[in-house]
Amino acid sequence: MSNFLLVLLVVVVAFLIATRRRLRLHREALRRLGQSLARRQAFLGEEEPGVLGLEFQQLCGTANDLIIGYNRLSQLSNSQLAQIDTTLGSLKEAVMVLDEQNRIVLANGALRAIFPRSRGVPQQRLELVMESRQFLDYVTAVRTGDAPSQQEVEFTEDGSSLWVEATGALIPAIDQGAGTWALFVLHDVTRQKKLEGLRREFVANVSHELRTPLSVIKGYVETLVDGHRAMPVEDSEKFLLTIQRHTERLNSILEDLLTLSRLESSNPGLKLERIHLGTLISSVVEDVRRRPAAGGHELALKLDAGVGEMSLDSLKITQVLENLIDNALKYTSHGSVVEIQAKLVDTGIEVCVRDNGPGIPAEDLTRIFERFYRVDKGRSREKGGTGLGLSIVKHIVQLHGGRVWAESEPGKGAAFFLRLPQRTA
Ligand code: ADP
Repeated sequence: MSNFLLVLLVVVVAFLIATRRRLRLHREALRRLGQSLARRQAFLGEEEPGVLGLEFQQLCGTANDLIIGYNRLSQLSNSQLAQIDTTLGSLKEAVMVLDEQNRIVLANGALRAIFPRSRGVPQQRLELVMESRQFLDYVTAVRTGDAPSQQEVEFTEDGSSLWVEATGALIPAIDQGAGTWALFVLHDVTRQKKLEGLRREFVANVSHELRTPLSVIKGYVETLVDGHRAMPVEDSEKFLLTIQRHTERLNSILEDLLTLSRLESSNPGLKLERIHLGTLISSVVEDVRRRPAAGGHELALKLDAGVGEMSLDSLKITQVLENLIDNALKYTSHGSVVEIQAKLVDTGIEVCVRDNGPGIPAEDLTRIFERFYRVDKGRSREKGGTGLGLSIVKHIVQLHGGRVWAESEPGKGAAFFLRLPQRTA
């Protein structure tokens, strides 16, 4: 081999080695640049500027600018999100933001409280968190611009209904090509809905209760107006007595309704005074004994020596005792025994009115304190009951800070208890 060829070969090999070294450096630098981009940390690759070349330095500079810019924006966005989160957290209304695929991107504390399934897992799909076809339809309508400004929606949470007033709006996309997000504010109206339902039910019950005696009175009055001249006197007297009975019934219902409405008002007119409860119970029992309705019954009174003075509204407690004793007389047959007992217990004074009548089925025991609830509607009406007596009892006892309940073994009688707390003693 000639010297020339040898030199050429050496030069070529040296060039090759240098190129490979540069290639390795470039590869290594690119790898580290890639890592920096992935970690969003500035690239510190200036160790061998001459070797890596000017273009590579420029590429690194641009990449670093991008990384710094990205980090600044990311910090800004995080602090803005934190600010929004704090602001939304203080709102009573439930607020959430949905992305274009109906994933929950943001939910405030109120929303998480109403829908516990929205807690924890980030970006959950809406339908996994809230069960309501109606709400999904509303979300779609908001996206297509066909939604009313506000819509009432029913959800089912843990088997019970939840009502909200939903308002939705689209969040305009700032970036082109990004999906449209939507914001929803949900106002919990379950309480109002329930109250509305109760009010409707109450009006329907009252109307029903008043309609029966009124239509009887109307019928008999019309018959008397048309035919009283041709009618035998005994018939017209019978008619008049029926009218009187139903008028009294109307009167009792209205009286009880007025009493209830006063007791439920913000000023129920409780007049507390120091009264000897034992003496009060004795005088109520004495009064009832003198009534014809108590004729065939035995009223047995048992008072503990400790049942003394208490702070109470004597007229209202008298009404409680009368209602309970009246019921015991009403729902038991002649010859039955009604026991009235009062004793001192650790939390106050307990009064019990017990009879040995037909009793009350277990499933009705808590419901009999509701307005117009009767176990046997026909029997209650036939005995002149309004279905409001026990509701009045409950309200009065609760106004005194006490509680009332019933126990019964069907066929063996019923016992009504009221416990008045020591603090009023
Ligand atoms: P009412 O005017 O119908 O008696 P209440 O509110 O006083 O209304 O009582 C509600 C229902 O509870 C009654 O209709 C009756 O079915 C039941 N009840 C109340 N007291 C007794 C009792 N001592 N024995 C059996 N049932 C009773």
